Amino acid sequence: MKITVIGAGAMGSLFGAILAESGEDVRLYDIWEEHVKAINEKGLDIELNGKTRSVSVNATSDKRQIGKTDLAIIFVKSTQTVDAARIASELVGNSGFVLTLQNGMGNADIIDEVIDPGRIIAGTTSYGATMLGPGSIRHAGTGPTVIGMWTGIQKTGIAKITDVFNKAGIVTETVDDVRSVIWGKLLVNVGINAITALTGIKNGRILDLAATKALSCAAVEEALEVARAQGVKVSDNTVEHVFQVAEATRNNRSSMGQDVDNKRQTEISAINGAIVKEAQKLGVTVPVNQTLTALVETLQAHYE
Ligand code: NAD
Repeated sequence: MKITVIGAGAMGSLFGAILAESGEDVRLYDIWEEHVKAINEKGLDIELNGKTRSVSVNATSDKRQIGKTDLAIIFVKSTQTVDAARIASELVGNSGFVLTLQNGMGNADIIDEVIDPGRIIAGTTSYGATMLGPGSIRHAGTGPTVIGMWTGIQKTGIAKITDVFNKAGIVTETVDDVRSVIWGKLLVNVGINAITALTGIKNGRILDLAATKALSCAAVEEALEVARAQGVKVSDNTVEHVFQVAEATRNNRSSMGQDVDNKRQTEISAINGAIVKEAQKLGVTVPVNQTLTALVETLQAHYE
């Protein structure tokens, strides 16, 4: 299968490399030219459990070099989804599929504006990766990937893509109701990311102080109300689940935390900010999420 990864940062490079190792015809597309050059010159270095392997995979910053693609995987940060969706649309033409495994809410809706919704696949992944430098990433975690047609109407194409992922060792399951799955991951990010980004703490520290735990719980409870009002199926144990994830990732800095540490724009508008936007549509107030969003927006607007 000809696969193009749009946004070959930590996650895009990892997925692209694993699929290339399994024999798929993979192109990595990224606007970061130094990273592209390093991959083409010496391969992509992947560090896993202290050992590094080099994977040979084609990378480019020139989309004209790519040509028609069966599957475009969007792995830019959510702030760049508009651009990535336009490129994906050119690459897949009228027959290929576009897959987003990005975090946050709203990515598939943005893709939906330029691509026939019947060819959009969305989902979540429990894989984790960190960018170490040009041509070099750390594979930080492995776990299930769950995907589904954005329209909820199954097509044979998704079964083929699921097979390709599983053959490559990326354990992937297809579901009918992918929106609930995306909400499930969003709720975890709502309870962890902004709080850790604003305070500089690692994920597990949320559980160590009653005030921080209560803040996380309040943000998630507000988001749960919005989800339920939209008819999304959410678990009654969501807050407990968020705390379990914080404990399991106790020593990790969240992705939003890392963005703030590196003075990069965060995905706040697709996470707590998305809860605020959805709540406004429903006419309900979500003061905790509104405050967390405003504070992260303030922080990132004033990086030195
Ligand atoms: P990243 O910042 O490492 O990679 C994003 C890449 O996109 C960068 O290399 C950047 O140069 C590139 N890019 C930006 N604009 C572009 C454009 N217009 N065209 C092409 N490339 C462009 O980010 P990441 O950590 O890989 O995360 C990507 C997405 O996956 C995010 O939504 C994130 O929340 C999600 N995610 C990340 C992890 C993780 O462990 N890192 C895990 C699950 C999901």
